[in-house]
Amino acid sequence: WRRGKGNANKGVMTKTQVDLLEGYEGKCVLTKKQMEGIIEDFLARMEEGLEREEQQLKMLPSFVEKMPCGKEEGEFLAIDLGGTNSRVVRLALKGGQVREMVAHEDPIPKELMVGTTKELFDFIARQVKTFLGKHNTLAQSGQGKGGKIPIGFCFSYPMKQTGLANGEIVNWNKGFDIKDTFGKDLVELLEGSLSEYKIQGKVFAMVNDTVGTLAAHKFIDQDTQLGVILGTGSNAAYIEGKRRITKLQGGETKREEDKMIVNIEWGNFKSSRLPYLEEDREVDERTPNKGKQHFEKMISGMYLGEMVRLACLRASAEGNLFGGSQKDKLQQAWTFPTSLVSRIDGLGPEKLDQVKKELSAALDIPRAEITHGCARFVSRLCQLVGDRSAALAATGVTAIYRYLMQSKQVSPNQRFVVAVDGGLFEHYPRYPERMQQTFISLLGKEQAKRVELVHSPDGSGIGTAVIAAATAR
Ligand code: BGC
Ligand code: MG
Repeated sequence: WRRGKGNANKGVMTKTQVDLLEGYEGKCVLTKKQMEGIIEDFLARMEEGLEREEQQLKMLPSFVEKMPCGKEEGEFLAIDLGGTNSRVVRLALKGGQVREMVAHEDPIPKELMVGTTKELFDFIARQVKTFLGKHNTLAQSGQGKGGKIPIGFCFSYPMKQTGLANGEIVNWNKGFDIKDTFGKDLVELLEGSLSEYKIQGKVFAMVNDTVGTLAAHKFIDQDTQLGVILGTGSNAAYIEGKRRITKLQGGETKREEDKMIVNIEWGNFKSSRLPYLEEDREVDERTPNKGKQHFEKMISGMYLGEMVRLACLRASAEGNLFGGSQKDKLQQAWTFPTSLVSRIDGLGPEKLDQVKKELSAALDIPRAEITHGCARFVSRLCQLVGDRSAALAATGVTAIYRYLMQSKQVSPNQRFVVAVDGGLFEHYPRYPERMQQTFISLLGKEQAKRVELVHSPDGSGIGTAVIAAATAR
């Protein structure tokens, strides 16, 4: 990638650009030893989180104790508040299948992410109202208590629960910063706003998106062990023996077979062994949850573009990238979307003309000012950032796999199915293959084959419905 194929001169990067890239490579390409170190720290943080409250890994009990068996039935409405969109889904489960599913999604207006709790929940209620106006059959089904619509609420933020249908937020992430949500029960907030809009609903279960993803896939594949989100944010949930969640008050059980899904909140993992770049620190500075979610900020879709932008800005100032003029657009935070990183990475080093075209359009830089060397630099940079993300996500999965092996909750000859959802996993080029590479390097070819990554969409809809139904069973 250092030298252009046809025209060597035009393809050459400046010496500083080459040095910068070597620096990024040194960090972003993880050795097996480094990943083993990260796993060691990750496992120690998991154990702490299971023992005590308010640890780095929160290890949040979900109160989902009846594992989906594939026979769940019923009609439900799912409400899904994510990092980017809010979604309403109506669905029916019958005979081990999803019989019917209608969904509607709206982007969450930016100002609501930093407004008041009431504004946000009223927005959701209005969305549900509109949806039911078009697609309502549930209200007449009389399935809920007192004719109320049975609702599953999928909430993609950490929450402290004491039961399946209650809980308070622990902290906002992914750019959300709403001050007056703390200390309030989220289910009450939702039901309150719904009833103001004259919607008779009852929330049966409130679950994190990772928990929903895990449950939705376990409904169709009993060997599912893990639910992972690789999207705007990143996180994982797994099935834990209840006895091992020692911090759980009143959860004492002697029975080996009692289980509960635990939401790890892996985004908040940090370790001096993580491959931090100067850009990671700068990205962190620009977020409302500064100092938190280190792991998430190195992995997830919300942050990868910003990281590339900052690296380009540096290369422009220090190594003459884009003629060294530090174009206006490049100076504005959050203007380099991860979808662009993804497209550039997907084009690869062979299609630099198209990379130039992408960059020129996105950054308002005349095409002539983007040399082959510049395009080559950005192309390789995107690839490195994508590689690091996938390697870290796979390292997290491997840590949990090891934990479940060591604690003898999964046996080495069992399939280890990982249900994954999120735009990064779905759309970033070769993301699953990149993760699989890491499994091979950490577990060896044979063991790595047991780890099956499966894209599992609709965790919010199917998952919350399955959980609500399993609980009613
Ligand atoms: C949240 C998690 C969530 C993840 C993926 C993180 O920012 O803290 O609760 O599961 O994003 O959506
Ligand atoms: Mg989501």
